[in-house]
Amino acid sequence: MEPAIPLNMNTDRDKGFINSMFSSIQARTSAYCFRCITCTNGCPIVLNYREQAKEKLDLLPHQLMYAVRLGLKDLVLESQMLWLCTECYMCTEYCPQGVHVCDVIYELKNLAIKERKDLMPRGLRLFAHALLDNGRTAEIMDWEREDLELPELSGAGDAELQELLGQLGLPQLIDKEGS
Ligand code: SF4
Ligand code: SF4
Repeated sequence: MEPAIPLNMNTDRDKGFINSMFSSIQARTSAYCFRCITCTNGCPIVLNYREQAKEKLDLLPHQLMYAVRLGLKDLVLESQMLWLCTECYMCTEYCPQGVHVCDVIYELKNLAIKERKDLMPRGLRLFAHALLDNGRTAEIMDWEREDLELPELSGAGDAELQELLGQLGLPQLIDKEGS
């Protein structure tokens, strides 16, 4: 039996959240979930945490889908599962009901970043800053390239990437100074 989640169904349901999620073709598929738990059983992140999965992830993939359907916005957005999901799409592949579990998680992450910036993990924020500043998320050492006999990085395309990310609103999403 699943551990109980303390909820007040009279106050915790957010009808606006339900409406906005169900206006998305991907998120609407969560309505077909019949809680078979196949997605959770096939999830490598759940497997990684084993007995501690509930404690570390807050909501497991099948619980996330069900909570979306119920409109439990705060519970969903505050779940660590959103940020620990690797977007491997195993859940979506396994789901017998065609629920787009991974895409729903993407949408929830986007919503969390837009509405609850405090929830965005620090590591993800650092990645976003690095992408904006350098056009990549990993620092490339010159000596590594020399060892591999690769030419110096030219920086070609960096400006275009920054412009594109700016147009997509990334600086505002991560509260980058000057945006
Ligand atoms: S596999 Fe699909 S139907 Fe089963 S619990 Fe997960 S989302 Fe729901
Ligand atoms: S996409 Fe995320 S939720 Fe789905 S199986 Fe992979 S890690 Fe788990």
